[in-house]
Amino acid sequence: MLNIKKILDNLEFINISTDEFTIFEWKPTRSYKSFILDLNVCKQNPMSDIFFHMDKGNLKIVHIRKENLIYSAGSNIEMQFQLLEAIIEEVSIEFNKKYAVDYILSYENFSPGTFNKFEVEIDNILANFEALDLIKVINIPCMVCNAIKPLIVKKSFIKNAESYPVPIVYTHDGHAVLCFIDKNFDVRGVELVHITG
Ligand SMILES: [Zn+2]
Repeated sequence: MLNIKKILDNLEFINISTDEFTIFEWKPTRSYKSFILDLNVCKQNPMSDIFFHMDKGNLKIVHIRKENLIYSAGSNIEMQFQLLEAIIEEVSIEFNKKYAVDYILSYENFSPGTFNKFEVEIDNILANFEALDLIKVINIPCMVCNAIKPLIVKKSFIKNAESYPVPIVYTHDGHAVLCFIDKNFDVRGVELVHITG
């Protein structure tokens, strides 16, 4: 069994930015690392509503542009990308529930501390993450590892799929397998795939 709570400890940051500046940032207590350079790469990407993944050494970053904001989350490599996506999805929903963001940002006296209290929501999301039921752990029989490997998928990814089974590439330990997942989150097939890029 995967210990999701323990995996969430690998989170390095959650950031919400406009094209110009960061409006909110969360980091674990006692973290003084800065990710400004990595975040600038995210901002250069103009595509909306698509999750982008970056591998930067021992850092994994997911980012997405939604309306006028860029949401990103980073962790060490113990995390899986779909878990980062699930975190960002929930963060963006809660952030927009709590704040009339466009209105606040258009206000001339906008001060950078406006959204600081959102830290409480982030801590809540992370503390109760399993209860939110946003992800599913699927056991994938990998023919390369010759072992069962746990794949984390976002439930929304399977639920919102246009057809089934849904293909998903599971990259781990330097190789990748293509997994086919049906709407009940059962594995319908696994194939070895080659990686390029
Ligand atoms: Zn494997």
